[in-house]
Amino acid sequence: MRKPVIAIDGYSSTGKSSISKVIAKKLGLIHMDTGALYRGVTYFAILKCLNENGEINLQQLFSTLDEIKLEFKEVDDELILFLNGNDISKEIRGNQVSAHVSLIACQKEVRDYLMETQRSIAEKGGVILDGRDIGTVVLPNADYKFFLTASIDERTKRRFLELKSLGIETTEEEVKHNLITRDKIDSEREVAPLKKADDAILIDNSSLTKKETIDYMISLISDI
Ligand code: C5P
Repeated sequence: MRKPVIAIDGYSSTGKSSISKVIAKKLGLIHMDTGALYRGVTYFAILKCLNENGEINLQQLFSTLDEIKLEFKEVDDELILFLNGNDISKEIRGNQVSAHVSLIACQKEVRDYLMETQRSIAEKGGVILDGRDIGTVVLPNADYKFFLTASIDERTKRRFLELKSLGIETTEEEVKHNLITRDKIDSEREVAPLKKADDAILIDNSSLTKKETIDYMISLISDI
């Protein structure tokens, strides 16, 4: 029997990736964190495409997109992102990448470039992709679609603790500002904006634990 394709979209720090990871493990599905792909391209741009003013030169990035090889590899039960053979899983969570990623994700060239990677993994079924436009653009025919949201204060607290556990220096104010800015850019951009698909199930998990959110979502996934 063909396994399902599940799309999980929503606002930053609603737990999309960590929830997807657990559901994938429980149901025997492959999980792809598509935000990590956009972060990987942003990290490459910061390394290779900065102009004299320290800004990203988008034209230079577009002309070097084919030099970017992003791969997920399983290390100690974790999916780790590699850029051209180097583990960049910690670097892509840093403040500099977070500050630039939404600008990079607005670019049609970048979105087109990452589309194939995302669609090809879903072809055979048995996958969960989490991101911003999975249910609307990347996999509009997904079998299950969820859209996660939570209050800004709750999301700030979660992201702050996550960054602290990774040893990344930041403040709650900085985290909150970054989440609000990214949500605004992501929702207002012209190409593939962050938007709930009409047929997605909306879940506000402000007052749900991660486990409660996962149990609820699994209860709605019937054909496994
Ligand atoms: O999921 P995460 O917060 O790591 O995503 C980082 C950024 O990547 C988002 O703020 C958004 O700008 C971009 N993104 C996107 N489309 C996706 C996944 C992420 O535009 N499918």
